[in-house]
Amino acid sequence: KGLKKFFPVTGGVFSRKIGEVKAVNDVSFEVYEREVLGIVGESGCGKSTTGKALLRLIEPTEGEVIFDGVDITKLDDEEMRKKRRDMQIIFQDPYASLNPRHKVEKILGEPLLIHGIGDKEERQKKVRDILEIVGLPGEHANRYPHQFSGGQRQRIGIARALIVNPKLIVCDEPVSALDVSIQSQILNLMEDLQEQFGLTYVFIAHDLSVVRHISHRIGVMYLGKMVELTGNEELYNNPLHPYTKSLLSAVPNPDPDVKKERMILEGDVPSPSNPPSGCAFHTRCPDCMDICKQVRPEFQEYSDNHFVACHLYSEENN
Ligand code: SF4
Ligand code: MG
Repeated sequence: KGLKKFFPVTGGVFSRKIGEVKAVNDVSFEVYEREVLGIVGESGCGKSTTGKALLRLIEPTEGEVIFDGVDITKLDDEEMRKKRRDMQIIFQDPYASLNPRHKVEKILGEPLLIHGIGDKEERQKKVRDILEIVGLPGEHANRYPHQFSGGQRQRIGIARALIVNPKLIVCDEPVSALDVSIQSQILNLMEDLQEQFGLTYVFIAHDLSVVRHISHRIGVMYLGKMVELTGNEELYNNPLHPYTKSLLSAVPNPDPDVKKERMILEGDVPSPSNPPSGCAFHTRCPDCMDICKQVRPEFQEYSDNHFVACHLYSEENN
């Protein structure tokens, strides 16, 4: 609720603060239990920062994160440490997120140790069980990360998140670093696990085609803001925001009868330390009107469960 994360920009000889990057700038949304909420947008739009702020892996500058009725931004370290068991993360790069000097046994046993789950023998059993659940042989617990392929390493990353039996998992581009041929295997696995364990995912991706099948609802972010949020089907069939339309036009349609007009966005993403006035998308928007340059459009519910921040859909223009 009202989530913000600003990073200071320093410069000059004395490294003084000369500005700030508004990585996440007043974002509000709900995630339902057992839901997969996709969040998409270009790099730098604030989606990863949002995901990390949801887990307080980075401290929000402002705003509330209410999990199971508790605003976790108010918890002290010890309370937060306990809560962490319920909320886990899967990182984009399985290479970077697994300690190369540790055996899988230790990598997967660590979260159990941190949360005081089981004795040594029970932990060893849990590690082997979870490996089987993510599709790896239990005896691979004795191996090191470099002995696995990229896809297998991401299976270990998933196992590490899953082993403490969490409710929510933030999946930060979990397949972006993988070969296309491996991506769908990992996505299928994640989808199965979500159903099997009744998990809730916040699933971050830069590519709409990745979140398409796994998400129940999808939020689209642009320059630190949520610009559209609705159900999966509704977003594909009835996108409202011009930015969403441009993202969708870049996704190949498997149906050859559907001829799409490909919409190419002009210009680069503006800098989040110096976002355009009014609607942040106005510098690239094909539908830009005068009002867009001055007034920031509110994020509001346009039709049932379909939220959008765009003047094309505000009351004054309808
Ligand atoms: Fe385009 Fe204006 Fe809508 Fe922004 S508010 S997306 S500039 S039409
Ligand atoms: Mg990212």
